[in-house]
Amino acid sequence: MRSVILSAGKSCFTVCPGCYNHFGRTVVDTPRVLGFAAGLCDRFGLDKITVGGGDPLSRPDIIPLLTGLHGLGLRIHLDTVGTAFLGSARIRFMGSGVAERVPPGEVAAVADLVGIPLDGSTDAVQQRFRRHVTVSSQLAVLSLLDGVGARVCVNTVVHAGNLADVVGIARLLEGHPCIKEWQLFQFMPIGPLGHRNRERYRIGGDDFRRAADLALARAPEEVTVTAKSAGGRKHRYLLIDSAGLVWAPEQSRTPSWQNEDANDRRDVVGVLTDPDILDRVARLEDVGQRVPA
Ligand code: SF4
Repeated sequence: MRSVILSAGKSCFTVCPGCYNHFGRTVVDTPRVLGFAAGLCDRFGLDKITVGGGDPLSRPDIIPLLTGLHGLGLRIHLDTVGTAFLGSARIRFMGSGVAERVPPGEVAAVADLVGIPLDGSTDAVQQRFRRHVTVSSQLAVLSLLDGVGARVCVNTVVHAGNLADVVGIARLLEGHPCIKEWQLFQFMPIGPLGHRNRERYRIGGDDFRRAADLALARAPEEVTVTAKSAGGRKHRYLLIDSAGLVWAPEQSRTPSWQNEDANDRRDVVGVLTDPDILDRVARLEDVGQRVPA
């Protein structure tokens, strides 16, 4: 089935003007999330789930949620900016207040892969996409994860503002044994913010392929490089917001990226507690499978 991305939190420790996401306003109870995830396992054979932004570490019961998903037999990829690994962390986007520190070892014990963003080798480049996040904070997070034996995937959104910095980012990956993978994502002009600010970030497929080739040539030998183009990600995601709304980006039926795919709209499938939610997901899956990969 599609990759399932669960927004565990409703807030973030950073502000990304190119954010792809539609945020929920509340946080649905963990038992309800686990019930839905169990249904996806039974009906569709789901074996992996990505727990992503709104930042999972902003959710107060993130460890019980991860433990519950792990108990269902799911492989867990957790994507976080990582700020709350370092100490209590200020909420910067979609909320206010402070999130408590989350022990990185407790996350590493149940997450198969921890995704940490690095979008530039200098603060100026890094903050073109992720405000308030510094290069030194990200390297400190990576060092903490080295220390607890986590497996890490560094995630880079490749956009017009960091295309020239791929080699610089590659250099920062050296000396961190926790880093197993480097994923490069071509910026997708979707979501309320990503679509509104698309001209600032958009790059074409040729530029992305060149950046990916450079990453492959310059990444440390032991790090696997994966390039994810915008077209290659069409019809590949099922998202659940923090409030339990199940959705997918609204995208055309053709396999390659089209101008109309750059939009701020989404197809809402339902709420994860709807009695027929799994049937609705199945209908969305049918549509996705009719689109050639
Ligand atoms: S791109 Fe991710 S980290 Fe940035 S604001 Fe959106 S959900 Fe949060």
